[in-house]
Amino acid sequence: MKPISVNMDTIDDRNAVIQPLNKFWYSNKVAAMDMLRLDLLHPVVSGNKWYKLRLNVAAAKEKGFKTLLTFGGGYSNHLVATAFAAQMFGLRSIAIVRGRHDTLTPTLEDCRRYGMELIFVTREDYRNKNEPDWLKGLVDQFDDLYIVPEGGANERGRTGAGLISWYIDKAYTHVVTAIGSGTTLAGLRIKLPAHQEMLGFAPMKQGAYLKDHIDEHLDDDKRHCWKIFDSWHFGGFGKWNRELADFMNDFYRENHIPLDMVYTAKMMYGMRELLLDNYFSVSDRVLCIHSGGVQGNVSLKDELIY
Ligand SMILES: *Cc1c(COP(=O)(O)O)cnc(C)c1O
Repeated sequence: MKPISVNMDTIDDRNAVIQPLNKFWYSNKVAAMDMLRLDLLHPVVSGNKWYKLRLNVAAAKEKGFKTLLTFGGGYSNHLVATAFAAQMFGLRSIAIVRGRHDTLTPTLEDCRRYGMELIFVTREDYRNKNEPDWLKGLVDQFDDLYIVPEGGANERGRTGAGLISWYIDKAYTHVVTAIGSGTTLAGLRIKLPAHQEMLGFAPMKQGAYLKDHIDEHLDDDKRHCWKIFDSWHFGGFGKWNRELADFMNDFYRENHIPLDMVYTAKMMYGMRELLLDNYFSVSDRVLCIHSGGVQGNVSLKDELIY
């Protein structure tokens, strides 16, 4: 990777660093606990989103496509990341957005700012998103579109997420990540050696259903070395309460790391519960992946000290 300076025009892999958590946070429950700060990668295309997109953007450019088309809801970090990455690489971008959104969410406003065309469809219609004939009725020049599925959940998305393994030392016994579509976990699980157990935290109710969906992409030897936790959803996807906000502020005070309310706060809350529950052995070395999303904390702004 070539870029050197930290600016909006480049995404430098070296911006993401490993930061040890304050010892006090995990006391003597494990030997080490660090956080991979993918949130520092770029102010807009933060976290895992760039890894899931980068091989898709490269393929679109290489094959001569002019436009990226993708899908998401009004609060989708994937949409903003796609809008920004497309603009950066001289591609048009179009999003099929779930729901009407008479007033734009801050996320959708950002998408517009980065030149993304938004096509709103009802929640019912959105279910057709994998039907080419339905899409043909919505957008012109269908053949000129490079389609990125919702959440960047395709082969190139998984392979790109696997690149996050660059940062991960073999000495870690556990690698922890939040799960939305499961693309990041699947990509990393494929790439990391089986002795490194992966723990995935789903921030929605009954997220354990993702287990089969992720296993589908794994060879047999990798299906048994990862787990999914879905107890810490705080009422559902995007939901939060006082306790979560307090936890985020405490975590910030203790580690100087801002978590995002949708994914990483719930993940680290769950991690604290597992630590208190003596889930780990004292010799374990744990790496938690901060997958970004901090810019999405706007609805919690008045509650947070950061
Ligand atoms: C999108 C997102 C995830 C989920 O990633 P998947 O690859 O869809 O599982 C996790 N954390 C953050 C901050 C995200 O924005």
